[in-house]
Amino acid sequence: MVSTARAPGKGRKSEVARYQMYIDGKFVDAAGGKTFDVYDPATEGVIATCPAGEAEDVDRAVQAAVRAFYGGWRSVSAQERGRVLFRLAERVRARRAELAELETINSGKPIVESEYDMDDTATCFEYYGGLATKINGEVLPVPADAIAMAMREPVGIAGQIIPWNYPLMMAAWKIAPALAAGCTVVLKPAEQTPLSILKLAEDFEAVGLPPGVVNVVTGDGPGAGAPLVAHPKVRKIAFTGSAEVGKLIMRSAADQLKRVSLELGGKSPNIFFSDADFENAVDGALFGTFINQGEVCSAGSRVLVQQDIYKKFVDAAAAKAKTIRLGPGVDRETKMGPLVSAEQRDRVASYLKVGRGEAKVAAGGGTPKEFDTGWYVEPTIFYDVDNGARIAQEEIFGPVMSVIPFRDEAEAIRIANESPYGLAAAVWTRDIFKAFRVVKSLEAGIVWVNHMQPTFVEAPWGGYKMSGFGRELGHWGVEEYLETKQVFINLDEKPIGWY
Ligand code: NAP
Ligand code: MG
Repeated sequence: MVSTARAPGKGRKSEVARYQMYIDGKFVDAAGGKTFDVYDPATEGVIATCPAGEAEDVDRAVQAAVRAFYGGWRSVSAQERGRVLFRLAERVRARRAELAELETINSGKPIVESEYDMDDTATCFEYYGGLATKINGEVLPVPADAIAMAMREPVGIAGQIIPWNYPLMMAAWKIAPALAAGCTVVLKPAEQTPLSILKLAEDFEAVGLPPGVVNVVTGDGPGAGAPLVAHPKVRKIAFTGSAEVGKLIMRSAADQLKRVSLELGGKSPNIFFSDADFENAVDGALFGTFINQGEVCSAGSRVLVQQDIYKKFVDAAAAKAKTIRLGPGVDRETKMGPLVSAEQRDRVASYLKVGRGEAKVAAGGGTPKEFDTGWYVEPTIFYDVDNGARIAQEEIFGPVMSVIPFRDEAEAIRIANESPYGLAAAVWTRDIFKAFRVVKSLEAGIVWVNHMQPTFVEAPWGGYKMSGFGRELGHWGVEEYLETKQVFINLDEKPIGWY
């Protein structure tokens, strides 16, 4: 792996870094020798090539993970597994600036956000480093002539497939709990953003990860993701991404009754009552929708506003949205970068067209004219949106807010829950009774009160309804990688005497 140079101009291939994938402790090319290009969304230039992994490469990685699991990792002490995770965290902290810059160049997100992502990545490794030694079994209160215990054991080889919106952080959310549990891993990053995890893989050996314990296979979904899901030696699939691919994965995993956890995004309601602190509320609506260019699974993209503040709220939000500074993520003044790919920019732009037909535009509504290069989309606010409209029901995954008015608490709850998804929700009010009534009524895996988006590694993350199932982070996260074995010990030495 060589340096990460930036291509100077649109579509130009120069100083392109050649990355390799990481299998069995070595950086390697794809068996078939094919590669794919990786881009800088701000310049549209090719910055790197990566091996286009296919079934043969996936098999190589899985076989390495099998050898590593049975050959030792499952018997490595919890203390040592914890120390490996702490050392990984240290490496992320030591390389924070370098990794954050690479993440920004590859994904488009503002550098300040990438730096926070690196901190969260390190914290995730630290949390599971600590948790590794707290995975306890239980002794159960059975009658005196026996002892019954529940032992926790690693599931085995975990296949992990992640999206492009928080590349290294998503990798950490998957790898850290799996290693804490004693599993070995084959991870497939998104084809758009494979660079940061491959950079961190340079340190895997030095932190004490034996060959094969963590493998990174690059490639696209059909080429590398599908064979990983279908591989008979993979016992568990953890996936974050679109509901469409989530369904494909579940169907494929059904053949071998493989364990599956799915984090599939949503169309999350952000509810503003008229008694909320107005300035904070407007900020919270923008932050909830536009952070990370809106490429966030929990984006609060359905903004529900009570009628008596509705007009004022839309005007204030629109005025602020127009001041959001777009630009390359590497510029520290940038508040919103380009979207990750031309494909994603086009997908979001197609929703802008749909939205212009379904609702009124308060801000944005197109792609900005001031950039020669870069996959930018204007921060967009649609208002007078009907909750049945496509822009209120479908995940757009870009900087697009749909504002919907409501009369009272009951109507807000009804609209909020009228969605196939249930990942996240937020409610803004100064009335604690109302806040808690709404919290209890919303069908969502996380509900914020007077905030939206921050989350802690200690707390569970995952969805209701079509946002998926299983929980990441906290002690819930490690459960996804554990089996439970009952051990029954007979203490009665008399012959059993049944026959
Ligand atoms: P996606 O297709 O769901 O991609 C997520 C991951 O799944 C990627 O690593 C992808 O690989 C892989 N994948 C794709 N097809 C697969 C298959 N048949 N078997 C196994 N793995 C497969 O998401 P996307 O195409 O990048 O984005 C499309 C939409 O998904 C977005 O507009 C957004 O609505 C949603 N999305 C949601 C989240 C979230 O966090 N909930 C994240 C990303 C996207 P490749 O991409 O490399 O082919
Ligand atoms: Mg894709």
